[in-house]
Amino acid sequence: MSEATDYYAIPYPLASDDAEGDAQMQGIAERVEAILRAGFTVPDGSVTIGNPAVAAGPSAVVQGLLGTDLFTSTLALTSGGSGGLVLTVVKNGTEVNRLHVAQDGSVQVRAGNVYRPVPFAIATGSAPVTLTAQASTSAVINLPAGRFVSPAQPLVYATVYAGSNYYAYGLATSITSITVGVTHRDNTAGTANFYVHWMAVQMLPTVAPGLLAVEPEYTHHTTCHTEGCDNARIPIPVVLDAPTVICGVCSQVVDDIVPITET
Ligand SMILES: [Zn+2]
Repeated sequence: MSEATDYYAIPYPLASDDAEGDAQMQGIAERVEAILRAGFTVPDGSVTIGNPAVAAGPSAVVQGLLGTDLFTSTLALTSGGSGGLVLTVVKNGTEVNRLHVAQDGSVQVRAGNVYRPVPFAIATGSAPVTLTAQASTSAVINLPAGRFVSPAQPLVYATVYAGSNYYAYGLATSITSITVGVTHRDNTAGTANFYVHWMAVQMLPTVAPGLLAVEPEYTHHTTCHTEGCDNARIPIPVVLDAPTVICGVCSQVVDDIVPITET
């Protein structure tokens, strides 16, 4: 009477069993084949593909039919150059799409033989801005903490929502905050409330693109205290050049503004 292993149920003979080597070996072989054919689970640890001593990048290939089209997805670790991970989708032998994740964190999609970068970092929001007997005003928007990285400063786009006699502008002052402003088109003073819709983009880890800048001198720490906000209780350094500071995650006005004291 043979026993079997706990997890994969691979049979093995006991010392008390009759010696019938060929049948026992066949039982083990058939069980191993059944495990591999049916798709097997590794219950613990990692599956390693490739050998660092071999220059060619290892890959895993998945094939499947969709209608009569054969789709092949190849997951490859690239070596040399940028390094990273490449996911390639092949339809009937022709590459249709490729996703490239580089070591520096940049992501590109290749389709039609052209690489198309996916933004490295992006943030969008809607910020309340109030003019009180003013032709123009601005607000500081705190960006999500840690989202943007030096040496780039994000490129900023801003529009006034539902206010065609006003225009908005946006500019990056640092990697932690931006400034959006609202100005009356004929520069006369007025009182009005607006939401400014804004977007800040950094295309690659090092450039926004094309805008290489040194870190500015931060003057204040501003802290959001909205419960549940991703920025809550994180002091965000800003270059304060506007009367109002708004959290770029929860859109609430930030009241906790303290000068950064030199230590
Ligand atoms: Zn917040």
